Amino acid sequence: MNRPLYSPKTIQDLLERHGFTFSKALGQNFLIDGNIIEKIIGAADIQNKNILEIGPGFGVLSHRLSEKGKKLLLVEMDRRLEPVLKEVLADRDNVEIIFSDVLKLDLHRVLKERFGGEKVNVVANLPYYVTTPILAHLLEDNLPIESITVMVQKEVAKRMAAKANTKDYGSLSLLVQYYTQGTVICTVPNTVFMPRPKVESAVVYLKLRGVSKNENFFKVTRAAFNMRRKTLVNALAKGLNLEKAKIADCLSAINLSEQIRGEELSLEQYLELSQLLFMESILKRYE
Ligand code: SAM
Repeated sequence: MNRPLYSPKTIQDLLERHGFTFSKALGQNFLIDGNIIEKIIGAADIQNKNILEIGPGFGVLSHRLSEKGKKLLLVEMDRRLEPVLKEVLADRDNVEIIFSDVLKLDLHRVLKERFGGEKVNVVANLPYYVTTPILAHLLEDNLPIESITVMVQKEVAKRMAAKANTKDYGSLSLLVQYYTQGTVICTVPNTVFMPRPKVESAVVYLKLRGVSKNENFFKVTRAAFNMRRKTLVNALAKGLNLEKAKIADCLSAINLSEQIRGEELSLEQYLELSQLLFMESILKRYE
């Protein structure tokens, strides 16, 4: 009988035949549930599109992605997975694998070489400890990316979607919401993974807005949340080496109190504030 790739028995068989052991350090929790795989495929909207999958693991999700998409590029850090991926994807002719840490890849060059100038849709079931650096790597560099569908720790999904004045709100919320329009597709219990992680997960779909990087906005938000407990005036004065009077003046120009804290400002207010803080005319008044 032909078992599906994601069945625990198939995974167990691959583990034994290839003598593979899961690496905790690389966040290797592999999907063993067909429904979740189909949820990710449905959310990612990749019919006949170019796909970049980060961290294919045993290639269970990759196999379905290659059936639906046009061309699939896989980036996997663990070289030990090469024989497994070759076996699992042997019947697919639209797949290429690069063995590398995605954070060390020049994605501009790689995507240009593999997909010409065409847009790419990213799909990833990410190791939890590298979610933020990988998202920043994908978002901050004006890459030709159309969407990112990603499985993350449930708590991280909450931080990505959080609004001002909530405990989950922070620089990750602003990074994700500045660059993308996000939707939490579903939460995912730990039972759909082998081995089971300790935490629950969530699938998030991010549609890129196509905005370019705004250095001042990120300088300001990083400084604001680095010193969360201080007032915004104190946090920015210390973090950005600016005069407190100037910061208070800019806050007042957008009708905000100088006692306000970083977590109380919305993304739009941060955009306005960072523009004012770095405006030539205002800077000159305090020289
Ligand atoms: N996609 C598979 C699945 O859903 O069953 C595996 C997901 S597992 C949570 C994460 C995968 O990412 C592992 O295969 C791991 O080796 C790989 N990985 C970890 N860090 C990476 C990095 N920096 N660059 C590329 N791949 C990485």
